Amino acid sequence: MIYESPHPPVDLPECSVWDKVWANPTGASDTKDAVIDGPTGRKLSRGELRSHAQRLAEGLRTTASLSQGDVLCVVSPNSLYYHMLVLASQCAGIVFSGANASYTPSELAHQLEDSSAKLVLAHPQVLKTVLAATKQLGWSTSEQQRRIILAVRSDEAGPASKQHKTLDYLLADKEMQPVKVHDPKNTVAYLGYSSGTSGKAKGVRTSAYNMTSVLSILAPVKTYEDDVQLAVLPLNHIYGLTKLVHWPVLWGNPVVVMPKFEIQALCSLVQRYRGTFLMLVPPIALQLARDPIVDKFDMSSLRIIISGAAPLGPELEQELATRLPKATVLQAYGLTESSPTTHMGIIPKRGSIGPLLPMMRGRIVDPETNKDVKQGEVGEMLLAGPNIMLGYLNRPEATAETLVKDAQGTTWLKTGDIARVDEKGLFYITDRLKELIKVKGFQVPPAELEAVLLECPFVADCAVIGVWNDDQQTEYPRAYVVLSSKGKAESDPSATIQSWMKNKVAHYKQLKGGIKLVDSVPKSPSGKLLRRILREEAKAEIEAA
Ligand code: AMP
Repeated sequence: MIYESPHPPVDLPECSVWDKVWANPTGASDTKDAVIDGPTGRKLSRGELRSHAQRLAEGLRTTASLSQGDVLCVVSPNSLYYHMLVLASQCAGIVFSGANASYTPSELAHQLEDSSAKLVLAHPQVLKTVLAATKQLGWSTSEQQRRIILAVRSDEAGPASKQHKTLDYLLADKEMQPVKVHDPKNTVAYLGYSSGTSGKAKGVRTSAYNMTSVLSILAPVKTYEDDVQLAVLPLNHIYGLTKLVHWPVLWGNPVVVMPKFEIQALCSLVQRYRGTFLMLVPPIALQLARDPIVDKFDMSSLRIIISGAAPLGPELEQELATRLPKATVLQAYGLTESSPTTHMGIIPKRGSIGPLLPMMRGRIVDPETNKDVKQGEVGEMLLAGPNIMLGYLNRPEATAETLVKDAQGTTWLKTGDIARVDEKGLFYITDRLKELIKVKGFQVPPAELEAVLLECPFVADCAVIGVWNDDQQTEYPRAYVVLSSKGKAESDPSATIQSWMKNKVAHYKQLKGGIKLVDSVPKSPSGKLLRRILREEAKAEIEAA
């Protein structure tokens, strides 16, 4: 059975992302605040943001010699300039690839190499990592100086500005005329990274049309002139890019950006700027619901709180709604591969991700047979709509496994998530079929951690799974390790392996779910790891504890 969205259809314009976000349907003035830097209070008005983005676009095309379709990689925590960098790329027709600011050099090197990034805009805080990553890729010092530019103005760059140019170098005197995108359905505008259903992070080819469509299908969530967004989620992830970069610019709402989440700072910014809209992930929902500090602040301006990127249990959702009674608390669901939002709990029902957004269709199938299951039964969720990616970059096989065409010619995205649909058309995510682990909303592909572990001389074999941590409302990776003879000779091999991982993978990929030393890891006769067996064992163990 095909589930249709209960919402009325919406128009899907075929234009560039730039033209869509600056269409200004609310008539917001150029003097209105567009971006406010939370820690410093510095601001960019809408007029400044647009003009700076156009000047930067001109500099990217002339000074940095980027051409339409080239890839720009931005490595930066949330900052006053992030919106400008994203929008400049869309003005110039350049593909934007945001990297996670907590990546290690090898993780970043993978994205830079895989995406063939021509230029890197790096925040001074992450310059060391960017230099190490590009060194791994064989960039010479002069190439690094030419291809790495600091993503801040000269007066903020500190000592790093001695070696590297800053945004001032790229800001041309002239504003670029935004490029016209003639075939938005087939023009890649963003290249986010996602492991999909298995393996290493892959480049997700998000078209201009995918991105403009998702902005249109969010129509059921009404925004008002005096709405103020809080950007605590990372803007490089598609969740932040859509909801905290493009959406507020489109509707003329100021965004207060925070470089990292800290509960007191968040509450104080809500109070100071009368924040109305807050997008979060379950571990932040947990702190908002339970931390006593929240009571010290006036949070009454919050009108909508949306949780996404990972499961939020119905009890915690209710707890948050009770604590902040002025706010409507709801869940949204999506994937990098669907740009990302496909469901939103506009009709709030605790524990549900809500119905399909306009223009979206869904199916629930038996993962073994690919046949539709009956309404109410669980199965893999498949989705179709205008926001489904074009495919993975240079990976036709992974694309073919993930995007499947039916007899009617509709392309369905296999989400790798297990879901059910109730009689009202509300969807519930009940489990995950794919191997992905989500730590506080961030992707952690187990295969990537296993590959790193296998490089460790103390490890003969291993398997990694996610284990649920109720106190933090997140999964954490846990490794099952078969020790090598060298590992067996160690007095505390688990501690040695943990410290080995420290420099190899980002902080959120660390094995906080622990290491279990085992004699063997379960495998199929063909040698495929059977992580599901370990997951079931871990679940039983947690339930028994
Ligand atoms: P990403 O591509 O990083 O956005 O990760 C997408 C994955 O996050 C989905 O396939 C789900 O497994 C998970 N996810 C996103 N939103 C939710 C949600 N509201 N509830 C449960 N899981 C979610």
